[in-house]
Amino acid sequence: MSLKYFKTPIQELKSQEFEQFGVRVYIKREDLNHPFVSGNKWWKLKYNLQEASRMGYQTLITFGGAYSNHIFATAAAANELGLKSIGIIRGEETLPCNATLSYAKEKGMELYYISREVYRKKAAAASIQSLQEKFGKFFLIPEGGTNELAVRGCSEFASALEKEIDFNYLCLSVGTGGTIAGMINGLTDQKKVIGFSSLKGGDFLSDEIKTWVTPTKINWTINTDYHFGGYAKSTVALKSFIQEMKATHQLPLDEVYTAKMVWGVFDLIQKNYFKRGSIILLLHTGGLQGNY
Ligand SMILES: *Cc1c(COP(=O)(O)O)cnc(C)c1O
Repeated sequence: MSLKYFKTPIQELKSQEFEQFGVRVYIKREDLNHPFVSGNKWWKLKYNLQEASRMGYQTLITFGGAYSNHIFATAAAANELGLKSIGIIRGEETLPCNATLSYAKEKGMELYYISREVYRKKAAAASIQSLQEKFGKFFLIPEGGTNELAVRGCSEFASALEKEIDFNYLCLSVGTGGTIAGMINGLTDQKKVIGFSSLKGGDFLSDEIKTWVTPTKINWTINTDYHFGGYAKSTVALKSFIQEMKATHQLPLDEVYTAKMVWGVFDLIQKNYFKRGSIILLLHTGGLQGNY
């Protein structure tokens, strides 16, 4: 029992500037791996779905904000595999539902809204117990989908990616850090991994990521300079960057994650951060549902 998967291309981004700085830039279009369970969320869910089915669970429960890519992906995945899904949503219900939540509902996800205060304590034993009293037996996937099974899925993806293309740097966007942890674990030690925090004050992320990463892996870093004011915050300049990427490279990006990372990489290239001759591989982690 597994999700459909579509093989994804690697696209070269060409510009005179990259030539001038002596680097080549590619992007792995993992956003195209599935129409609805897209990008990193596919890999984060893979082993969670397998485990849920192996253990005989019929229902998935997970958590997220009203625009969450993870809620969207989990609803689609559960629907494809014939599982029931319940989404615990942060904050009050606003009607009509936004596109993300309407889609989740359409895919059969039951939505429950909890206050921000209660949401903060969602992972506590007492909160889980009250969910069990309310919903019965379920397989729980944490907020953003990050757990050991998610890290394992991303690690598998990273190993396969390394066989597909030669590169020196892998750059990707970071939210909870689960995806980058898996990528670090799955790549050989020669590859350098750079994560771009989509959150403001993302300095705590490195310690969080270390809890998932094989201790011998040290060739990675988290850049916290390109959050554009914080999670889900944007600027006029970022919006026009997205338009420009679409027009010049036919590359669709989302405001919350991937656009900030691509901007960050372009900026670092101009600051001579990368050694001449480097091959820089960007990872498109998806998230385009948020644009609609
Ligand atoms: C969820 C998400 C991320 C962040 O992944 P983490 O594993 O939480 O770090 C990055 N990019 C996109 C498009 C996402 O939807």
